[in-house]
Amino acid sequence: MNTFRNFIDGDFVDGSGEAFEDRFPTTGEVIAKVGHAGQDDVDRAVTAAKRALNGPWGKLSLAERIGLLRKLADGINARFDEFLAAEIKDTGKPTGIASHIDIPRGAANFNVFADQIATIPTETFEMATPDGAGALNYALRMPRGVIGVVCPWNLPLLLMTWKVAPALACGNTVVVKPSEETPATATLLGEVMNAVGIPKGVYNVVHGFGGGDTGEFLTGHPDIDAVTFTGETATGEAIMAAASKGVRPVSLELGGKNPGIVFDDADMAATLEGLGRACFANTGQVCLGTERVYVQRGIFDELAAKLAEKARAYRFGDPFDKATTMGPLISAEHRRKVLSYYDKAREGGAEILAGGGVPDVDGYPGGYWVQPTVWTGLAQDHPVVTDEIFGPCTHLTPFDDEEEAIALANASPYGLAATIWTTNLGRAHRVAAKVDAGITWVNCWFLRDLRTPFGGSKRSGIGREGGVHSLEFYTELRNVCIKL
Ligand code: NAD
Repeated sequence: MNTFRNFIDGDFVDGSGEAFEDRFPTTGEVIAKVGHAGQDDVDRAVTAAKRALNGPWGKLSLAERIGLLRKLADGINARFDEFLAAEIKDTGKPTGIASHIDIPRGAANFNVFADQIATIPTETFEMATPDGAGALNYALRMPRGVIGVVCPWNLPLLLMTWKVAPALACGNTVVVKPSEETPATATLLGEVMNAVGIPKGVYNVVHGFGGGDTGEFLTGHPDIDAVTFTGETATGEAIMAAASKGVRPVSLELGGKNPGIVFDDADMAATLEGLGRACFANTGQVCLGTERVYVQRGIFDELAAKLAEKARAYRFGDPFDKATTMGPLISAEHRRKVLSYYDKAREGGAEILAGGGVPDVDGYPGGYWVQPTVWTGLAQDHPVVTDEIFGPCTHLTPFDDEEEAIALANASPYGLAATIWTTNLGRAHRVAAKVDAGITWVNCWFLRDLRTPFGGSKRSGIGREGGVHSLEFYTELRNVCIKL
């Protein structure tokens, strides 16, 4: 059986905690043991990261650092199949998704932030002085230091390198706490770090759980200089509280309950294709997914029937088989949570247009399966309509006009992503400007240009990452004023 060890100061080590199990969600079988980092291991990882800042890593030129980032992208791509298999085993997600999104994007993040750091300008201001000599101000972009990186399980490599790549590009060092559900690819990346010559201590991985365990040991560690986190809003609050000791900056990419708005002038075929993915892709375990759809009344019945048909067309099964289009949920515990909402919908009198239960998947009785599900008929304050479920399910509500659609979309404490489906250009611009969301997609979903600002409004997060916005978080600007 595989063992995933912690990666500390360039070495793979077991960790002082009791090893825990990693399961394949498609079968429920244990596939690996995971070395569990205790407080002492986190201390050693942070100390190594701090030492590396002033070691060979801190002495590299920008050009040398950029060269290493590109080698990391190449290093992942050179072992693409291993990363792919590891991600699929940890998540059960179909190869069609992991091979097109998770692994290529996981690698591409290093090239994107190599480009960004190569081209970001710095600011200068000339100023007058009473003696006429003048002064020149310029800003230096300095690494923040040791960054604590805490990651979720839904897009493990992609979301981890989304933070590690810009952190390293800016000259920081990192201690990463992957999700306890998905330890594999972060560990494998340690091998790539060593292979391409990243100095010891620059990238460290500590495995374990969150509150009261490895995650909290890391975010509460006094020598962590900033914390970047992607995960649930409640966890974000705990992490923000931990980071407040010592006044450390945080970047929080949190949960959502994202609305989709479909107007009666939308292109039906294109909407169904995009909206179908937004509701069900990755078994609904995408922070940007659409769990509330508002549909203009005139096309409600047609859209509802066709979306339900789409939901029923997914194929469950072996994730390594290209014909499989839907994987299981990540864990038995997460399935319990998702199915509790399926129960609540039924008890609340929802009309179930598709799914609503657990499928029989031939050959995989132990998998954490749920059916893609479409409901309608619940009130806007029902938990199915207000809470992030994080499963392959969505609730449809009719609306009459633009104003009502915007009000319904915005009646949520979250503000991560929205989709708008319309062929009326003026309406698209108008509504996009009024929807409370960090990202609004018009006639598309998950179309990502990695230079753009990414993050949530309201309880969906603090700060923006992506492009130069990541560089703002992972560096500190220091002004130098020179009297001439
Ligand atoms: P989670 O918050 O349960 O866990 C995320 C990570 O935090 C894990 O590594 C966990 O061990 C750690 N953790 C938990 N409690 C902690 C604590 N008190 N201190 C330190 N670390 C702690 O989230 P999850 O279930 O892994 O992921 C799903 C959630 O992530 C959803 O809410 C989803 O919307 C969100 N998400 C958001 C984005 C985004 O970009 N906004 C992207 C992906 C996922």
